[in-house]
Amino acid sequence: MTSEEMAQHVAAICRDEGIRVLPHSRGGRASKSHKVIAIRPVKSAITYAVALHELGHVLGPWQSQPRLYAEAGAWKWAKEVALIWTPAMADKMSRSLHSYVLWAERRAPRIKLPEDDHEFWMLRGDAPEPRTRKVPAKQRRRMRVLRMIFGR
Ligand SMILES: [Zn+2]
Repeated sequence: MTSEEMAQHVAAICRDEGIRVLPHSRGGRASKSHKVIAIRPVKSAITYAVALHELGHVLGPWQSQPRLYAEAGAWKWAKEVALIWTPAMADKMSRSLHSYVLWAERRAPRIKLPEDDHEFWMLRGDAPEPRTRKVPAKQRRRMRVLRMIFGR
């Protein structure tokens, strides 16, 4: 499936459902009541997944439930509707849902996690490994020099 076909699929859903699309620079937003989503142009499996996820906030299940349920509902809908579901898209969904788990844990007990048997956990899958950040060569050199001067 080409990225052009992915973009066309998203455009077709928006046309059929009367959903307006606004440009967005990073990630995405959605308003169910205004039937509008804000997304980056669909140019890859990832931007396709995010676009469908935002559409899921308008068309998917559990959207009137608390945040974590709504996020899971939007991903559930995205996965069901997607014409292709690549490992990169699954990873995006897993990381996105996990970021809300971390957010809820920081705000516990005010934000509750979904029940153990809720589909949220199936959609997230195993907790993803944190991404290792690549330190640019220039910064690595500077750190080495500082270690030479100051020790450790
Ligand atoms: Zn979302």
